[in-house]
Amino acid sequence: MSTTYIPAELRRLVYERARGRCEYCLIPETVVLVSHQVDHIIAEKHGGLTEADNLALSGAVCNKHKGIDLASIDPDTGQIVALYHPRRDKWSEHFRLTGAKLMPLTPIGPVTVKLLQLNRAERVEERQLLIAAKLLPVY
Ligand SMILES: [Zn+2]
Repeated sequence: MSTTYIPAELRRLVYERARGRCEYCLIPETVVLVSHQVDHIIAEKHGGLTEADNLALSGAVCNKHKGIDLASIDPDTGQIVALYHPRRDKWSEHFRLTGAKLMPLTPIGPVTVKLLQLNRAERVEERQLLIAAKLLPVY
């Protein structure tokens, strides 16, 4: 989340690298009303740069909830855990789609699911509709 200008070429790289999907919840931009945004994975406030390795494509909902956060507190252990980092972490190692819910597979999972509210009722309902319509990519 940033107001920094991102050159069109860099924006295109981020979009194409993500194949037009939110890198946090994997929802394609083509099925949502609000365009996906370029997220600074490490926010500029924390020293993150506007360069390809620190950028991710994010749906507006995920981006709003992530804000400038880098980590959160695991609800079960009380430990501070870094959020899912789309450039360093592999999605399928940390999350699995079970029905229409995202199930965390590692400690990164629960903090990211909670902070980004990935399993909020309306997001799960949206996922159910998209799965039924075969509009979600294979997870
Ligand atoms: Zn998302």
